[in-house]
Amino acid sequence: MIYLSLCVVFGVATALVARAKGSSWVLWGLIGAIFPVLGLAGILLARRDSEELRRACPNCGKVCMLYDALCTRCGCELAFPETAIESRAQASRRSAA
Ligand SMILES: [Zn+2]
Repeated sequence: MIYLSLCVVFGVATALVARAKGSSWVLWGLIGAIFPVLGLAGILLARRDSEELRRACPNCGKVCMLYDALCTRCGCELAFPETAIESRAQASRRSAA
């Protein structure tokens, strides 16, 4: 019984962190409830993808994340670019202002 309430508490805590980070809070709440400590640690360590810089693939032009080593569309190897594209979060803040 104590274990069940622990699962609920961690599930809710994980869901709240996920929602604040802009991830799926339903999915993370479930993960947090099934793996009480691991789920919360997972969302705390997860990247906030909308804040990451992006860049265009030189081969096919697909916009990839800056940390990607291979293009997710054409598989082209990506060197670290000289110029990056602003993150989705920056772009939406700029267009909102
Ligand atoms: Zn590509």
